Amino acid sequence: MTRTVRRDNETDRQLVLLVGLVAVCAVAVGVASLYLVAGSLVTTPDELALVAALVFLAAVGVTVKWRVRIRSTAHAIAWSEVAILVGLAVAPATLVVLCTGLGVGLAMIVQRIARIKATFAIAKNMLVASAAGAVLHTLNWDPELAIYSVAFFGPLVTAYVVAVVLDEVLTIPVIARDTGTGLCAIFRHNLGLRISSAVIRFPLIVAILLILKADQWLLVTIPPVVLCIHLAYAGHARARDDQQAWQRLARATDALNVVDLDAVLSIAVVQAADLFSTDRVEVELNEPARLVQGNSDGVQYDGPTGSAPTPHMRTVIAVPLAGPGSTLSVGTLRLCLTGPVKFSDREHYTLRTFASALCTAVRNASLYRQLNQVAERHAREAAQDELTGLANRRRLMEHGSELLGRRRTSGITALLLVDLNHFKEINDTLGHGAGDKVLIQVARRLSVNVQPGGLVARLGGDEFAVLLTTLPAPAIAAHRADALLAAICEPMELDGMRINVEASGGIAVAPGSGGMAELLRRADVAMYQAKRSGGRTAVYARSRDTADVGRLALGGDLRRAVAQHEFNVDFQPIVDLGTGEVIAAEALARWQHPDRGRLDPKRFLETVERSGLLPAFADAVLEQSLIAAATWHEAGFALPVAVNLSPRSLLDRRFPGAVLARLQAHDVPPDRLILELTETLTLSQLEVVDQVLGQLRDAGVRLALDEFGTGYSSLSMLSRVPVHELKIARSFVMSMEASSEAVAVIRSTVDLGRSLGLSVVAEGVESEPQRRTLWTIGCTAGQGHLFARPMPAHRLLTALQCGSGGRPGSLASPLHDEGAVVRIDQTRRAGQRHRNEKVPHLPA
Ligand code: C2E
Ligand code: CA
Repeated sequence: MTRTVRRDNETDRQLVLLVGLVAVCAVAVGVASLYLVAGSLVTTPDELALVAALVFLAAVGVTVKWRVRIRSTAHAIAWSEVAILVGLAVAPATLVVLCTGLGVGLAMIVQRIARIKATFAIAKNMLVASAAGAVLHTLNWDPELAIYSVAFFGPLVTAYVVAVVLDEVLTIPVIARDTGTGLCAIFRHNLGLRISSAVIRFPLIVAILLILKADQWLLVTIPPVVLCIHLAYAGHARARDDQQAWQRLARATDALNVVDLDAVLSIAVVQAADLFSTDRVEVELNEPARLVQGNSDGVQYDGPTGSAPTPHMRTVIAVPLAGPGSTLSVGTLRLCLTGPVKFSDREHYTLRTFASALCTAVRNASLYRQLNQVAERHAREAAQDELTGLANRRRLMEHGSELLGRRRTSGITALLLVDLNHFKEINDTLGHGAGDKVLIQVARRLSVNVQPGGLVARLGGDEFAVLLTTLPAPAIAAHRADALLAAICEPMELDGMRINVEASGGIAVAPGSGGMAELLRRADVAMYQAKRSGGRTAVYARSRDTADVGRLALGGDLRRAVAQHEFNVDFQPIVDLGTGEVIAAEALARWQHPDRGRLDPKRFLETVERSGLLPAFADAVLEQSLIAAATWHEAGFALPVAVNLSPRSLLDRRFPGAVLARLQAHDVPPDRLILELTETLTLSQLEVVDQVLGQLRDAGVRLALDEFGTGYSSLSMLSRVPVHELKIARSFVMSMEASSEAVAVIRSTVDLGRSLGLSVVAEGVESEPQRRTLWTIGCTAGQGHLFARPMPAHRLLTALQCGSGGRPGSLASPLHDEGAVVRIDQTRRAGQRHRNEKVPHLPA
């Protein structure tokens, strides 16, 4: 994008051509004049003196001049027209033309003016002299006429105007070419000065002619007079020029008074190029490094310092951008000119003033920019979540309120609240960095999959919200929410590991009143409904609201619950599916809440796990379970007790020690305790989990995988976690009658258990057909409402003692007692026997 003013060869060639053209014309005029003069040879002393006087006059005329610099070129306003017209009054035009050429030539030699400039000056003045002479000749001008007559004045004025105009016409194109400036710009430059000087010079011509009429020899007095007038005028002109320069400086510094840094720099470049008449201006900033180049037409380069074009410039005047009296500069201002130029003192002073003003402007603009950035960042931070770049809670509330407050909205607005399940475990096991990556991926998936017009926000932690807008019907909200949750739950690559993130979603449609706060609350309630029901999403249902509101408040009561021993444990028997005999019991926690009555674990477990009270809770459950086991044992039933573990307990290195100490305290053998583990990411990926489980197993404690088949990569987990038992999730047992797929899952779990030598227990057996099918498949143990609901330890003991059909220790009739035809292939029977032999804890 760089375009640089440069005096290249092409420009030089054009300049030589132009000057050559003027010179050729002048030579022609000169030759013609010489031819005409040759007829009347100058020989007398008077004639020689006249020639000398004319030559001297012409030399003085071009020497005494008012110089104006345009870029690198000094442009001179000289007195040559005065010399020419005075000459024409005393000598023939041909002689004046030749003497002018000679006089100017001599002046050029004395002043050591460059050849091309000298040639141009000689040729131009000869042409001006011949043109003025031709006008006077044509108009029959007679210098002898009375000086105040029209016949004298008219031709003289005409010849003078022609001389002045021709001078301009010849000079302007040459300067324009030489400086690379437009013709109009050159024409306008100092126009007032040129016109006024031309006007002033004419009366001088008249005055000189008056003197000459008195005595021709007074001609020699003219040069000193001209010099005096020139000096007087030059002083006046300089003062005016200075004044104008200050005015221009004031305007230029005024223009810098803007707050946008880009604007400051481009204004500085243009103003400096105009103010100092330079070919190029550079402003280089230190911090951050930046270079802006340009000329009076505008900026031509703006970028890093290293890659700027650097055409050769003969004059570079650099001045630091520092405030008055300050040594700390913000950069440098450079004025570049193609030719050799020496700045006047005034120009130096102007430059320093301009640089100081520019420094202030740059500082102000930089500060303003920084302020703006800070303000923008604050505004962004106030509305944005830093980690994911999503809207934050505040932005969601503002946007939602604005949307709900609109009188006319197209369609229905709904809010989906998303909560990642087990996110804390991801954080705890894989580290916060991995947790952050998961949150970022979830944010991206939500943003990509949300419909246009929707707003995705992160409310904090692992909680996200999606505002669904312009829905055609409320039912569509659930549909869209399902799609969004499905997108989140797609497997995700995390540092080369493939993990599944599970999420629950609560959906609420915008209520008639209550605004965003109520919408958010309802979506929150719906989300907990989803979590409780085990489904992925739930739509807000008013009927279930109050309970949930209470559930949210439970957190505050936990501490008291632990201190006041409000947690107690019920036991659900696990039976041999074939004989109906109780072979173990699962401990299930209950909270005896003083106000809310008995609460089951789904309503408080998550709150317990999120609070710091999990160890105390787990301890209370274990204590009661072991007391129960010891009591049953004393009564003659050596039942193992199965206790559910929260995954987080496995991250506690002190946990095995605590368990073993309690076993010892109650004198319960370790193999009478079964710890049920939920399949989670935690179990399969952390060393501490391996150690905790290893210690427990080595001590003889039995381990079971709860809800097998519903968690993470079940098979890969089995290879790492050394369990003794698999528990088939209730959801499979429930679906068994309707779904062949569920049967297939159970069958393969049973087969897997057999091949690994593990017991398999089916959960949630509610009917005899389920029991039979499980038995047929080869599943030998189960629990469920068919046999017994969870009950207090003492009631279980009573049930055991009474038994079913008069058989102590039994809760159901044996399958063969009912005469059922159960076809079990031989291998299953063998496996069954084998396992029965391996389970020594049958009721005594
Ligand atoms: P789980 O380990 O799968 O426990 C079985 C759940 O199924 C129990 O619910 C039990 O009451 C229920 N259940 C048993 N048989 C049937 C049946 O035939 N039909 C139906 N519909 N339900 C049946 P509960 O007691 O509400 O426990 C829920 C979950 O809470 C448990 O699921 C377990 O994961 C967790 N949990 C319970 N107690 C504790 C505990 O002390 N510590 C920890 N960490 N978790 C516990
Ligand atoms: Ca369990």
